[in-house]
Amino acid sequence: MDTTSSGDYFESYEDLDIHKLMLEDSVRNRAYRKAIFDNVDSFKGKIVLDVGAGSGILSVFCAQAGASKVYAVEASETYKIAEEIAKENGFEHVIKVIHGRVEDVELEEKVDVIVSEWMGFYLLHEGMLDSVIVARDKFLSANGLMFPDSATLYAAPCSVPNMFEDWEDVEGISMKSFAQKLRHQASQKPVTAIIKSDHILAIPEAFCWFDLKEVKVSDLDTITVKHIFVSTKAARYQGISIWFTCTFPSSVTEPVILSTDPDDEPTHWKQTTIVLPEEVAVEEGEPVAVEVNLKRTTESERRYNIEVTMLDPNEIDHPEYCSCYMTKC
Ligand code: SAH
Repeated sequence: MDTTSSGDYFESYEDLDIHKLMLEDSVRNRAYRKAIFDNVDSFKGKIVLDVGAGSGILSVFCAQAGASKVYAVEASETYKIAEEIAKENGFEHVIKVIHGRVEDVELEEKVDVIVSEWMGFYLLHEGMLDSVIVARDKFLSANGLMFPDSATLYAAPCSVPNMFEDWEDVEGISMKSFAQKLRHQASQKPVTAIIKSDHILAIPEAFCWFDLKEVKVSDLDTITVKHIFVSTKAARYQGISIWFTCTFPSSVTEPVILSTDPDDEPTHWKQTTIVLPEEVAVEEGEPVAVEVNLKRTTESERRYNIEVTMLDPNEIDHPEYCSCYMTKC
């Protein structure tokens, strides 16, 4: 199903398997729960808005943390489940479920906190952050808090061995031509899969940081970075992997970070990889220069094209601290 038009998008969230996938992602659930419970003072007696409440889990966390009212806004038919879950947990007097797009609803008051789990693959897929920004500008009080309140996108060159190996002998048959076409196909659209941390070939670059109290919808239209990675090992460079972290506000403890880094426990977001049609052998210390460009498609603001361009390390400026082996830097 193409879930990028609004109707289809909300219909896709009527499939309970999607909510099951999220509810089974304990890294995700624990991060929200810890961020909320580490900061009960931000919730006690406060008015909260849950943007895209889904099955209602985040609304219940907020109610448990002492919120006096939680507006649980959900555009899909899943709102009925959120109502049942609120009741099942004894919070039907605190959680007010509202069926509708957050862009269309009206609330009686401003809110102290917005909580939302809006992140898609490579953070921006689905474009739900646009709706959270609208909600923030409409409903968040001047000193209100966003949970999470920042997000960072990372990129790094990687190996994707399952795309490039094991194709020389499939039951005695060489399938190298098939594999080449497969890689060409894979290079046309991002692949969502777990990348092992051993297969990351350089120090990742945090190429984009969003302050969720400030970010504008237009900031999300195009994101471009040119970067020189330095290979930390002799390896086969086969793709660029992208992932994100989100950080929650904290006045008390260390801020909670929800991480989808290959070094951390896997989540349902996995990593997003742009596979190169042809691999490149790199030496330890060798510069790998790329431009990564994420741009909303013209057909749907919920979708992005991700373009990776390999650059010539001789032709772009290296930062002063560059640790690659090229003499020019
Ligand atoms: N908060 C839930 C669900 C997160 S998935 C949880 O953490 O498990 C995102 C949910 O937001 C989906 O149920 C989707 O239907 C809803 N949603 C997305 N955009 C929305 C909008 N503009 N207004 C209301 N709900 C929205």
